[in-house]
Amino acid sequence: MLDNLTQRLSRVVKTMRGEARLTEANTQDMLREVRMALLEADVALPVVRDFVARVKERAVGQDVVSSLNPGQALVGVVHKELTALMGGDLGADASELSLASQPPAVILMAGLQGAGKTTSTGKLAKWLSEGGHLQGGRKTGKKKVLVVSADVYRPAAIEQLKTVAAQVKVDFLPTNTSQKPEDIGRQALDHAKRHHYDVLIVDTAGRLGIDENMMREIRALHDLLTPVETLFVVDAMQGQDAVNVAQAFSQALPLTGVVLTKMDGDARGGAALSVRHVTGKPLKFVGLSEKMDGLEPFHPERMAQRILG
Ligand code: GDP
Repeated sequence: MLDNLTQRLSRVVKTMRGEARLTEANTQDMLREVRMALLEADVALPVVRDFVARVKERAVGQDVVSSLNPGQALVGVVHKELTALMGGDLGADASELSLASQPPAVILMAGLQGAGKTTSTGKLAKWLSEGGHLQGGRKTGKKKVLVVSADVYRPAAIEQLKTVAAQVKVDFLPTNTSQKPEDIGRQALDHAKRHHYDVLIVDTAGRLGIDENMMREIRALHDLLTPVETLFVVDAMQGQDAVNVAQAFSQALPLTGVVLTKMDGDARGGAALSVRHVTGKPLKFVGLSEKMDGLEPFHPERMAQRILG
């Protein structure tokens, strides 16, 4: 069991009792512990470096309130900074989807194969169709949702979405692997318009690695669909690797938000900070189980706590 940041820092602090301010000298050893804690939580190295530099800037010169010791003061700074960086400063609206457009509001799901796109498509469809979504802090009501798969490489992926749609009781538009993704996009958009769907969620093909063809294909689909939300789905268990994947998707597509899946596993959540740092986009949802009700809006505060241990 790894020590949490407070325990780590308290060891360092034992050597510096009685100091009233955080100074360059007395924070140095503590910042080393912060760096280690973040690396162990799987935050990517360049992100850790930037973060520690930020914390140092904020921390040095701070009065250590009499009831706190310097270690606790630094934990406070780290926690606050981490929460802010992950979207805490955006307020509760950060996880809201922009559905207030002319219907159908299109949501495009992007990510590597196995990241949890199809599962998250089902969860999101359930969430929206049951009226779970908030806008400006208010429930927006039940949405009429259509889901479609633009994965023309794996018939099993289309079948999987069909099963998921039946499970969450939303409509599924059948497609097949002889179609082109763009034709599927056009057909789905047309169907959604004609049948007055509020929301169309488009699940896309994922590859095992980042590849240029896949990026070209999803970009073309994006241009055709002009989605209100382009959500990057990423597996929290990917840890350090999440940063490269996020970079590639972020360069290829104008992402609007992130869904971080598999947070029910033992991932410490460092991927949340890395992905946020690289994409600059809000984390909107967290996947918490394989089941269809395992989706929650993202809470920066809780994630900061989890990363710090
Ligand atoms: P896709 O290839 O991106 O569409 O990924 P899938 O939706 O098929 O998910 C891949 C695997 O991860 C499946 O076994 C899912 O049940 C599982 N999965 C997806 N999201 C979560 C999650 O939040 N928690 C857990 N434990 N499993 C998940």
